[in-house]
Amino acid sequence: MSEQLIGRFDMEMKSPSCTPGASWWGVKISLDDDISKVFPFLNAELKDADYNHKEKVLLWDSDKGFRCAFRPNEIAIAPVEDREVAQQICDDAIDMLNDIWNRRNQIEPNVAGKAPPPSMIQLLKLLPGTNCKECGYPTCMAFAAGLIKRQAELSGCPHLSSEA
Ligand code: SF4
Repeated sequence: MSEQLIGRFDMEMKSPSCTPGASWWGVKISLDDDISKVFPFLNAELKDADYNHKEKVLLWDSDKGFRCAFRPNEIAIAPVEDREVAQQICDDAIDMLNDIWNRRNQIEPNVAGKAPPPSMIQLLKLLPGTNCKECGYPTCMAFAAGLIKRQAELSGCPHLSSEA
């Protein structure tokens, strides 16, 4: 039998105070019940979620272009273009949370936070260090800097071992 994590909720649209006159909105969903018990399962299911288990906050960037902040009694979502889109996004978010809660017995909960990105030194240790320029950068260090700035892709170095 399915069990609803979230039943009733209130949705409110807010003009972003940080960007007066913006053509987008922020949405706040207020919840009667504390939903933090689903966060470890949500963290396990969502790709690239940024979870703080102690603070009970989970941030997630949807591939549809908006960011969600899940807190025990609130979900904030932005940017949203209008009320119709906001309603759809809210319904989808609530459905997703209820679905994950119903499937929690099949999900390994994850309370770990997002791993920090590797440092320049860590990246350099993984690169061959031959400065062969085949990646289009003059040195391995320049390629590593490109990776950190997200201007280069790992696949750009043909000499990278599969382990690295
Ligand atoms: S292709 Fe690889 S080994 Fe060659 S310079 Fe670029 S990062 Fe270094």
